[in-house]
This record gives sequence, structure tokens and C-alpha cells, in this order.
Amino acid sequence: MTTGIIFALFLTNFSWGASFVRDWIKPFGNIFINSLKLIAVPLILASLIKGISDLKDISKLSKMGSRTVITFVITTVVAVSIGLSLVNIIRPGNTISEETRRDLLTSYENDVSGRIAVAREQREAGPLQALEDLVPSNIFAAAGDNANMLQVIFFAVFFGLGLILIPEATARPVKDFFDGFNDVILKLIDLIMITAPYGVFALLAALVVESPSIDLFSALAMYAVTVLIGLGCMMGVYAAIVWFFTRKTPSFFFKGIAPAQLLGFSTSSSAATLPVTMERVEEHLGVHKEVASFVLPVGATINMDGTSLYQAVAAVFIAQAFGIDLSLQAQLGIIITATLASIGSAAVPGAGMVMLVIVLAQAGIPEAGLALIFAVDRPLDMCRTSVNITGDAAVSMMVAKSVGMLDK
Ligand code: ASP
Repeated sequence: MTTGIIFALFLTNFSWGASFVRDWIKPFGNIFINSLKLIAVPLILASLIKGISDLKDISKLSKMGSRTVITFVITTVVAVSIGLSLVNIIRPGNTISEETRRDLLTSYENDVSGRIAVAREQREAGPLQALEDLVPSNIFAAAGDNANMLQVIFFAVFFGLGLILIPEATARPVKDFFDGFNDVILKLIDLIMITAPYGVFALLAALVVESPSIDLFSALAMYAVTVLIGLGCMMGVYAAIVWFFTRKTPSFFFKGIAPAQLLGFSTSSSAATLPVTMERVEEHLGVHKEVASFVLPVGATINMDGTSLYQAVAAVFIAQAFGIDLSLQAQLGIIITATLASIGSAAVPGAGMVMLVIVLAQAGIPEAGLALIFAVDRPLDMCRTSVNITGDAAVSMMVAKSVGMLDK
């Protein structure tokens, strides 16, 4: 990471530096991310089908499922509440002058407006749309381009259930196949991870040459600091959850999950990081495969504490910068909409900012305000993705402990 940043900073001194990085370095970063994403769908299918079919006991599955979802919602609401408290205490929006606001709005409006159509569509969907979307009509389409992870998860759980319900003799060869398939995927992850340092180098170098100017960053420093303090608090919450429920120390937890956090930071994508998160949680934090293969893919898709915290801070920050006074009722509304918007955010770079549209619209804050926060979105995306991943890992340990599937 450091070498990538220094290398790109050095090259930006030359007129050809930025285009060199874009043409000759960035593609290797993209190849690295693509190869991780390539593994995500087969990994979820293989490990979840194997995990569920090994459970035998269906009541364990429902216990695990309900505990997972309830904890995800609770941690998300805690994250939003922390974000709202901090942004009301620090009030970073008040530091933005009228002039800076105008500059920010004009320079980024074009970039932002194209990206928010997706979120608008989601806002207009009916109340049961999310449930309807859970069930794919075609598994190949669900696992195809821009795979819909929740639909893939649904299929894998459904298939796993079928395997439990048929006689052992018929189920055996299918299980053995997925066992072997799973091992192959894990080996592929090992191979991809050999290239990780080069991929991360390329990603960070590309990021440096594509970042907006330092001036814009400094105008938004207070806002960024508010988000970062909030994210730091969430790390504390996770350490507390892990210690309270499993008696594992924060150093054990953070040491175990650190490589996944760093990869999340470099890729800004929980989905791309999933293979590594699963490996760390199973091999280093002692969570059994049956639990990890269920909790982590679901978590990567719907549990985004860092994202929800950021959305709450960003919404109130934009309101402050526009001089809009948000009532207590409006702020309570943000708790609900930021929770839902983070659940709806895809696990890819920048998704959280796009879904922020829903939070803004609900609270009556101008959508154009997205332009204000655009300049610092990427670095904050990197940090919130690390937090999203850490949250999934903490919850998987807690759930594993509660169903007796956490190694001593
Ligand atoms: N990049 C985040 C993730 O993948 C989502 C977001 O907040 O943009 O977890």
C-alpha cells in the first residue's frame, strides 16, 4: 500500500506519470479485484451448500439465521446512532463557507448525477420488493454479471436444505462433490493471494493519480474526521461484542481479521474481500465453516455498519452545510432510512454514497448535496469497508459461540 502511494506521488511529478499509471499499472489492480470477484460466487455456492448440508439439524439453521439477522440490525442501528450523535456534537457542516459550498457543488454535480439513477429506482419500489427480489427466477442470471449475492445465497441455502432432506446414500456423492469443489476454490484463493501485494500496489497507485486536489480534501476535513471517529468507535463496539460473548481479547480478534481489513481498505469492496474474510474467520478466529459460510456472505451483502454510520453523518453534514435545521423527528427518521439504505447498498466501491440518495430524500435534504461529499468519498469508502468487514467477523464469532460452533 505504502509503496503504491509513494510510487504514484513520485510519478505525478512528471507530465506522463498519471497516464502511465492509468495505462500500465491500474489494469493489474483491476485484474486482482476481478479475480477475487470471480471466486466470490463459486465460493458462496460451494461453502454454503456444504455448510448447510452438514448441519443435519434444521432447528440449528433457523436459530443461526434469526440470531444473525437480529444482530445485524442491532449493530447497524447502533452505528447510525453513533454517527448521528457525533455529527450533532462536532457539527462539521458549519465549517463549510458559502463560497466553498458553491465551488464543491459546481465541480462535482455532473459526476454525481449520473450515478444516482439506481438509488432512485430503489426508492420507488414497493414495500415487499426486497422480499420478491430474494428469490431468483434463474440461478444462472442471479450468478451472472453483477451477481445478486442474496439470490445466490437463497439458492445455496435452499439446495442445502434439499440435501438434508433426501436419504444419506443419495446425498453422499453430491456432498462429496461440493467438498472437493470447496477445496479447489480455497486453493484458488491461496493462489490469488500470492499476487495480493502487487494488486494492492496497483490499486493504491491508481487511486493516488485519480484523487481530487488537496484543497477540496481540506475543506471537508472536519466531516471526514467525524466519520473516522465514528468508525473508530464501531471498532471498539466490535471488540466489546467479541469479548462479552466469546471472552476472546481484542488483540486476538484484530490480529485474526487484520489481513481482511487491509484488503477491504485497498479494494473498497466487501464482496471482493469475502474470500479472505472467510478464510481468516475460519482459520484464525475459530468459527466453524457451517456458521462462517452463512453469516459472512449474508453480512457482506446486508450488514454494513460503516456504511450506515457514514450515511447518517453525511446526511446531517449536508443539511448543516445547506443551513437546514433537522428536527429530532427527521433525525430519528434517518436511523430507519440509513439502516435500510445500508442494507440495500451493494458490496462494491461507492455504493454507500449512491444509496445515500434515499436518506437525503426522506429527510428533505437536497440531493445535489451529494456533490459536497464526493471529493472525500473514496478514502472514506476504504475505511467504512474495513469496518463493514470487521462487523461481519464479530457477528460471526458471536453467532458461532451461541450455537456451540466456536473453537476454544
Ligand atoms: N464499499 C462498501 C462495501 O463494499 C459499500 C459502501 O459503503 O460504499 O462494503
